[in-house]
Amino acid sequence: MRYVSTRGAAPELGFCDVLLAGLANDGGLYMPAEWPSLPDLTHVTSYAEAAAAVMAPFVAGEIDADVFAQLCTDAYATFRHDAVVPLVQIGANEWLLEQFHGPTLAFKDVALQLVGRLFDHVLAQRGQRVTIVGATSGDTGSAAIDGVKSCSNVDIVILYPQGRTSDVQRKQMTTVDSPNVHTVAVEGTFDDCQDLVKAMFNDAAFRERMNLSAVNSINWARVMAQIVYYVTSTRSLGATAINQTTFSVPTGNFGNVLSGWIARKMGAPIADFIVASNSNDILTRFINDNDMTARDVMPTLSPSMDIQVSSNFERLLFEMNGRDGGMTAEQLQRFRHSGSLKVEPDQMATWISPVFRAAKVDDAGIVHEIRRVYESSGQFIDPHTATGTAAVRSLGAHLDGRPVVTLATAHPAKFPDAVFAATGVRPPLPAHLADLLDRTEHTNLVANDLAAVQTFVERAVAR
Ligand SMILES: *Cc1c(COP(=O)(O)O)cnc(C)c1O
Repeated sequence: MRYVSTRGAAPELGFCDVLLAGLANDGGLYMPAEWPSLPDLTHVTSYAEAAAAVMAPFVAGEIDADVFAQLCTDAYATFRHDAVVPLVQIGANEWLLEQFHGPTLAFKDVALQLVGRLFDHVLAQRGQRVTIVGATSGDTGSAAIDGVKSCSNVDIVILYPQGRTSDVQRKQMTTVDSPNVHTVAVEGTFDDCQDLVKAMFNDAAFRERMNLSAVNSINWARVMAQIVYYVTSTRSLGATAINQTTFSVPTGNFGNVLSGWIARKMGAPIADFIVASNSNDILTRFINDNDMTARDVMPTLSPSMDIQVSSNFERLLFEMNGRDGGMTAEQLQRFRHSGSLKVEPDQMATWISPVFRAAKVDDAGIVHEIRRVYESSGQFIDPHTATGTAAVRSLGAHLDGRPVVTLATAHPAKFPDAVFAATGVRPPLPAHLADLLDRTEHTNLVANDLAAVQTFVERAVAR
C-alpha cells in the first residue's frame, strides 16, 4: 500500500514512513492510495485478531503479518474488558460502544496503545530513536504517555498548563514512573504549551538533534486503528447490507468519525453517521448549512471536543475533491485566510447529505442528557458521550428502525463533577485507578519560555 498527501505535493510513502512522519512535507495528511475491502471475519474470535485482519492491507509489505498480529494482541491486552470495546444497550434500538476500558479511560487508548508499539517496532528495525513532544489540555497526553511508556526507542515529553488540568487528568500523566516519560507543567495556558511545541518543531536544528516526532490525531496510524471497532460492532449487532447501523460520534478533530467513514467505504454495513458537536459547532453548521466558519473556542463540559478547526476533515475534503490535492490545498489556504469554507452544492448532495447528519448539544443539554440516560437505563455516561446520545434524540434517529450506536468516548469517572450535577452520584474510578489520587507525582515546573523548555528536553533525553 502506498500513501498520498491530501495536498498533492509530497512524495508517496509506505506505511512505516507515514507512521513516523505524521504530517506530509507539503503540510497535507497522508491517505492510502486506494481503499481495500473488508476481510472475511467468519473465523475471527477476538478483537485483536479482527484488528490484525482489518488493518492488514494498510501495513502489507511493510510490517510482517505475525509481528503485526502480536502487536495487536499486546495493545488490546491492556484493555480491562474481554470485548475490548463492549456494546451496552440503553434503549429499544440504542447501544453504547464503550471505548473507555483502556489504561487512561478514553477512546484515544484504542489507537495509541497500538501506535506506541508500532513506533517502537519500526524504530528498533531502523536502529533509530525519537523524542515525541506534545501539548495537552487533558486526554491526549495521558493516552500518548501510556502508549509509549514501555517503548525502548521513544522518549516522550508532554507539556501541560500548570494548574489548569483536572486532578485526574494531571495525575494520569505525572504518576507514570518510566525513565522515558517526562511531564512538564508550563507556567502558562494550553495555547502557550501548543505554541512552545510548534516553536520546537520550527527550530530545524533542534528538531533534527532531538529527532522530534508527534503522535497527534492527524497521524494516519491513529485513524487506521479506529476503523476496527466500527467493523467489529456492526458484526456483533448482526448488521447486514439491508439492516444497517447508524453511528453517533462525539466529534472534535473529526478523527473518530472519519475512521467510521472509511469502515463504511471498505464495506461495513453502516447506514450513516451523526456528527455530535458541543457548543463548538463548526462541523454541525457545515453539515447542516454548508457553512464552515471558525469562531472562538468556547470552554464546555466536554473539553476534548472544544475545537474549532477539525484537522482530519481535510481527509474527507480530499475525497470530496476527487482526490485533487492542488484543489484541496487551495481551499484550505482560503479557509486559513478568510476563516470560512464552502463547498459546491453538488458536493454536499453527493458526499455529505446522504452519509452525515449533525446536531449541536450545549452544556445544559449535556447535563439533561446524562440524567435522562441514567434514569432510563441506569447507565452513567460522560459529557462527551452525552452529546452523542442527545444528538440521536434531537434528530429522532432512535425512531428510524435501525440499530443506533453512540460511541462512549470517555469513562464517566473522568468527569465526575458533570455526572454528579446531573445525577447526584459521583461515579467511582475503576479498581486499577482507585488509588490514583494518592500516587506520587513526577513532574517538572518550567517557565513559559522556549529556551527553558528546550534545555529541559535536551537534559531529559540525554539521561
Ligand atoms: C478526543 C476525544 C473526542 C473527539 O474525537 P475526535 O477524533 O477528535 O473527533 C471525543 N471524546 C473524547 C472523550 C475524546 O478524548
